[in-house]
Amino acid sequence: MSGLRELLMVRPGGTRLADIDPRSTPGLPGKRVVGGDPKRWSQTQVAEMSEELNTYQERLFASAKEGGTNRRVLLVLQAMDCGGKDGTVRNVTQGMSPAGMKAVSFGPPDEQERRHDFLWRIRRGLPPAGHVGVFNRSHYEDVLIVRVHNLTSEDVWAQRYEQINAFEAEETADGLTMVKVMLHISKEEQKKRLLARLDDPSKHWKYNPGDLAERARWEDYQRAYEDALNRCSTTAAPWYVVPADRKWYRNWAVATLLRDAFADINPQYPEPDFDAAAERAKLLAAE
Ligand code: AMP
Ligand code: MG
Repeated sequence: MSGLRELLMVRPGGTRLADIDPRSTPGLPGKRVVGGDPKRWSQTQVAEMSEELNTYQERLFASAKEGGTNRRVLLVLQAMDCGGKDGTVRNVTQGMSPAGMKAVSFGPPDEQERRHDFLWRIRRGLPPAGHVGVFNRSHYEDVLIVRVHNLTSEDVWAQRYEQINAFEAEETADGLTMVKVMLHISKEEQKKRLLARLDDPSKHWKYNPGDLAERARWEDYQRAYEDALNRCSTTAAPWYVVPADRKWYRNWAVATLLRDAFADINPQYPEPDFDAAAERAKLLAAE
């Protein structure tokens, strides 16, 4: 178990994004340990953790197979555009069984979703028992973009922090382990990544001319993020801020946070409801 959670966890009321350097690498062991090459070291660690994560995922799935447990794990990723949400998901879930996963991306709500409470589509997107869920964006958009662009009145979005806390408390009491991660990139890094998208025709599909309008509201977003992080980092479902300008650190940190969450749950294969030795003897005796 690592102390990374302690380092990256948002302490309600006390986190200012401006104080967290997006290029920093908190919790990474010293130069001697990483053999002078932190990038390579992190990548090796991620490969090892990925084996661990896959075993955990299988045990979680197996433990829920006969019912009786509603254990579920949900990775929630929030970030500014180009923050690396997709890359992180690809990296930390590599090798997990798709059958035990539920990944959902949240864009602007469609007509049906708009007819319901903002948490309606979120509840539907939660992982079933024994599954690992990934949210690429989440209910937090309803206090981020919605707040920045006044998509609802302030008295509506201002109540959502408490509604989110109540919702998350209810779900975590019902077996959900949430790992909520904000990938924190710098404005300069975003510019570099947006340029890279524009310079590569195979990445144009990821670009949206509206991204520039969002970028122009950078400071408003940082403030909205700070409020969401500080108001909704709870004991039941804490927020973590992962410095994300360096992709290899980001991948290592998120994999570590997920691994630590699984280690707490430590799901076990269920006891079989048959006698394996007797079954084996029968199989061998038969044709
Ligand atoms: P992307 O993640 O690049 O596909 O973009 C999805 C877009 O949907 C982002 O600009 C989000 O801010 C936006 N979005 C997600 N949830 C909501 C929401 N509840 N209301 C309005 N816009 C949203
Ligand atoms: Mg986008």
